[in-house]
Amino acid sequence: MSGRVYLVGAGPGDPGLLTARALELIATADVVLYDRLIPAAALAGARTDAELIYVGKEGGGPSMPQAQIEQTLLERARAGSTVVRLKGGDPFVFGRGGEEAEALHAAGISVEVVPGVTAGVAAPAYAGIPVTHRDAASGVAFVTGHEDPAKPESALDWHALAGFPGTLVVYMGVRQLAAIAERLLAGGRAGDEPAAVIERGTLADQRVVTGTLETIAERAAVDRVRAPAIAVFGPVVALRERLAWFERRPLAGLTVAVTRARAQASELAARLQSLGATVLETPAIRIVPIDGPAPELEGYDLVCVTSPNGARLLFERLAAAGHDARALAGTRVAAIGPGTAVALREHGIRADIVPERFVAEGLVEALAGVPVTRALIARAAEARDLLPDALRARGATVDVLALYETVAEPLSESELAAARQADYVTFTSSSTVRFFFHAIGPAPLEGARLVSIGPVTSTALRERGLEPDVEASRHDIDGLLDALVADAGRGVS
Ligand code: SAH
Repeated sequence: MSGRVYLVGAGPGDPGLLTARALELIATADVVLYDRLIPAAALAGARTDAELIYVGKEGGGPSMPQAQIEQTLLERARAGSTVVRLKGGDPFVFGRGGEEAEALHAAGISVEVVPGVTAGVAAPAYAGIPVTHRDAASGVAFVTGHEDPAKPESALDWHALAGFPGTLVVYMGVRQLAAIAERLLAGGRAGDEPAAVIERGTLADQRVVTGTLETIAERAAVDRVRAPAIAVFGPVVALRERLAWFERRPLAGLTVAVTRARAQASELAARLQSLGATVLETPAIRIVPIDGPAPELEGYDLVCVTSPNGARLLFERLAAAGHDARALAGTRVAAIGPGTAVALREHGIRADIVPERFVAEGLVEALAGVPVTRALIARAAEARDLLPDALRARGATVDVLALYETVAEPLSESELAAARQADYVTFTSSSTVRFFFHAIGPAPLEGARLVSIGPVTSTALRERGLEPDVEASRHDIDGLLDALVADAGRGVS
């Protein structure tokens, strides 16, 4: 039986604008054919054994010819594969999606279409321009400006378009902008009508140039606007002055390097991105679990867990031995901070003790009034001994359970070069400091500000002769983000 082909819209570039359906289909596809401008995050979700075929144009260079794209879709579908044809924006808006669907249909292959967020709506939205508005535009026309409007065989009636009573959104080659504006003026559209060009809409480096129908081509040329770009003509463009939001986010335009282990980086990276930052993942460390038997927990009256990794790996060991949260039924459980408490809760344990200050010193203080005779500390192999020493000094018997080691994650030259240019480098533990600077070597960071999650991490920086520029006053991800945003000086939202 023939496989199915899914014509799937990937949105305009921001990976957050991929639909749930698109992600689901990409994750199951045998074959993915994709264009330029498809967010890397979209392909990252494909199966590792999926065939990924790039068919897009590279900077105006040759692309796979349309006939060959259609041929490839047919062949793979006939071979029984599930094929995702991933297209920028919406597949049926200026993407030749209609042609591809017709070709497949004619060959008897079933096609499903997954609409996407089209650039003509998304780029204006990210520029703070509503394409319609009760007072300013009751209609919107989506137009392709890729063809030369001066050509006599131009399929578009620019004269009629000039008279269109609403917003004009033109998907266009930047080179056509001057000719398009000229045609609209010649057709009688007002020269002082607000106009905008949006380059790389919805992407972190989106740029917006505004002017009027008369000035926009000149301004776009001066600012060297490049593809992909979209032009918007109409009174709605003026609303951008009030409604612009993308470039006003607290970390817009800033590049922030994240040095924590790749497996733990995603939450911090996502939060930074939603604040507007461009995130560089430069994981300096990797967590390597240490094999060992499940601990016998009966004899302990206190179990301390000092990191989310510790929580996760403690439960992995328990699960491997056929145990679950009930192994902790008879003991008090202390977490070093809220992240660890959350990790414990995911395994059915509510920590009895979570200190106010999320460092070992804070945990020692929080345990001051708690009776302890035998304690187990579940942690990294190379952690500080402050907590076990403090408990021993109180007369308790203390066992340390080393659940993992932190090792260097090799970083490529290009990753390191990118990190050197970052505006901020974030450190979430002393091991991220140690391994990051070991990898980056003596070459200095070019003006990057160093962000530390707390005093222990700051000490690790100072030991290298580096003063942290920012230290979080709450030693967790929220605290680190608050401190970074305050430092960027754009107010916390
Ligand atoms: N199917 C796509 C459009 C394909 S035509 C969609 O629905 O969005 C390609 C044109 O779309 C580009 O030349 C440019 O004009 C526009 N475009 C695509 N992505 C864009 C982006 N991120 N920002 C601005 N314009 C974009």
